[in-house]
Amino acid sequence: MPHAPRFPSIAVDDLVSHLRDLASNVWWSWNEEGWSVFQTLDPTEWRATNHSPLGTLERTTAARIAALACDPIFVKRVYDGLAARAAYLGERAWFQRGAGAHRAGFRVGYFCSEYGLHESIQQYAGGLGILAGDHLKSASDLGIPLVAMGLAYRHGYYIQQLARDGSTQVLYPEYDFARFGIEDTRITIGCPIGSRIVTARVLRLWVGRVPLYLLDTDLKANAPDDRKLTEGLYKGDPLLRLRQQVLLGVGGMMALKALGEKVTVLHLNEGHAAFAALQRAVDLHSTGRPIQESFDVVRRATVFTTHTPVPAGHDRYDPKMVCEELATLAARAGLSQTELADLGRINAGDEEETFCMTVLALRLSQRVNGVSQLHGEVSRDMWKKFYRVGAAKVPIGSITNGVHVKTWIDPDAERFWQNEIALRLGKQAPKATGWSHAKDADPARFWELRERLRSRLVHFVRDRMTMQCKRRGEGQSAVASAYSLLDDGVLTIGFARRFATYKRAPLIFHDPKRLAQILSSSTRPVQIVFAGKAHPRDEAGQAFAQRVFSMTRDPMFAGRVAFVEEYDMHVGRMLTSGADVWLNTPTRPYEASGTSGMKPPLHGGLNLSILDGWWPEAADGINGWSIGSTQTLADAPSQDASDVESLYRLLEESVVPQFYERDANGLPQGWIARALHSAATVPPEFNSHRMVAQYTRKAYLPAHSIRGS
Ligand SMILES: *Cc1c(COP(=O)(O)O)cnc(C)c1O
Repeated sequence: MPHAPRFPSIAVDDLVSHLRDLASNVWWSWNEEGWSVFQTLDPTEWRATNHSPLGTLERTTAARIAALACDPIFVKRVYDGLAARAAYLGERAWFQRGAGAHRAGFRVGYFCSEYGLHESIQQYAGGLGILAGDHLKSASDLGIPLVAMGLAYRHGYYIQQLARDGSTQVLYPEYDFARFGIEDTRITIGCPIGSRIVTARVLRLWVGRVPLYLLDTDLKANAPDDRKLTEGLYKGDPLLRLRQQVLLGVGGMMALKALGEKVTVLHLNEGHAAFAALQRAVDLHSTGRPIQESFDVVRRATVFTTHTPVPAGHDRYDPKMVCEELATLAARAGLSQTELADLGRINAGDEEETFCMTVLALRLSQRVNGVSQLHGEVSRDMWKKFYRVGAAKVPIGSITNGVHVKTWIDPDAERFWQNEIALRLGKQAPKATGWSHAKDADPARFWELRERLRSRLVHFVRDRMTMQCKRRGEGQSAVASAYSLLDDGVLTIGFARRFATYKRAPLIFHDPKRLAQILSSSTRPVQIVFAGKAHPRDEAGQAFAQRVFSMTRDPMFAGRVAFVEEYDMHVGRMLTSGADVWLNTPTRPYEASGTSGMKPPLHGGLNLSILDGWWPEAADGINGWSIGSTQTLADAPSQDASDVESLYRLLEESVVPQFYERDANGLPQGWIARALHSAATVPPEFNSHRMVAQYTRKAYLPAHSIRGS
């Protein structure tokens, strides 16, 4: 920690080095004392770089930096930021003060294929990554000893642009990891994949107190195919995907060893990471233990979170391919090809059965959980064949997902709750009790907050839509209408998520005429903002994006429907803070949890959702609306028709009338009461501090205690 200078100005080199220091830990991203320094450094470049601290620093002119080095207020903010971070890193957190006091050596190794930490660090595709990012931040805030492992993707996921016909154009930028604040540990490993030894360098990104290690194979030492292993996220054919997973699991465990990171508990966040447990068992075996016993030991110390009930969401490989790629590991373990293949099969010896990563993870984990109560139930049914017991006896529990509040709450909203109900988010404890007082907030001032957040969203959408129109080379009139899209005072529905087909993005357009009547009412209009990306190989998902895009161009909905390209964490924050209503229309029960709907309530937004994922646990009849019922219909078209009928009725009879029912002061008192109730009831439970504390108590600590070794 540098000491604050007595003189109000400092040398330019010192300022630059302090700024680099502040950018070197992602702590800056969820603490205003961090990110606001870089925003002030150069607001234009801050926006142009999608809020990248080091990108902004690189692009800020020397003259501006020199001027700021003489600006005592700015210099003080830099020192204050560094001091706040040092205090954070040094404090005894929740875990040290309580549960963790007597757990010598306890350390969790968290494995995941993607991490969503910030929009400027493009290493995530969707909900899984966002959840992992939030998990690391909460683990840091609560002081849970945890190290994370992943891959460093040169191209990230992809950048989405929509062509004039609404078709998806996939762009792959090359990222400079150093600009993400990622540092090289100078440690490399040689990971056996097939008959080759693939070299990976180990990179590190600090997330508060938590080190996130990322493997990178894009090195001259490797053959061209192996360099591609860390090119992109969920890119390429099954063989490439399998090799990526070998790198993550086997290479990841080797990297922890090379780094001297001793973990007692493994957390496989999704089956992608299952080879980590296998590698751990083989390491144990090589110290002289029989392999089956090694599996038992590893199983006791492994936690596995499964993330989807969609069958295609579970990776399955040709067993021959697995045996080839894992030949070295099998030889070390003394496993025959059949024995290795059987680890990923429900029925041993069944030549017809593929190798399933989820089955491998189930086999090597004692503590398994789904990500909501409903998903736990669905998973017990789904995997009863594996456990060979009735669904009720399947040992799969549930830990419902949550969001990292400081990451997702808008600073304006945070200040509002601070002033109104003395909410203090800096306090790092799993129980977020302060929210229950949300009802005491002043209705008029709350409505002003809502109007500000909505208006900011409207202007954000206009800016983005104007840019999109210009890029597509559309005419003057299209650009002009983009510029005047949407309206400030109009009930605004938000919908943003990956465009996987089960999420049914276009469902609300099922009966376009009926929807048009709802949206274009002259007295009670409604507008909808969409965002979302489909996987580059998911043609049906891209067709959904195209259909929604075409609706933005339909004169029937003129000016009332918008589609913002390139859904990322920034777009997510804008939409979840600005929308009055958050729409969620998955086919039940395919949404394992979903977390986007936990973000609007931080801003007094209301959910309008199918009873799927986390929502049945939260819905109390006042904090939002539930679409349809819990009944599943036999065929998809009837299910769609039934769900959308319920959605239209809710909009026509409840949502829209309540929003526009105003008192003498122009306030929708009924709506405000619901919105404040949403803020009082959702955030206390559906946040990632509660989630990580639950993982710690229910899974990590028990696994640590009985692991035996
Ligand atoms: C919150 C968030 C998600 C996860 O939300 P779902 O409800 O699972 O769709 C995905 N992507 C982004 C950018 C988010 O902000």
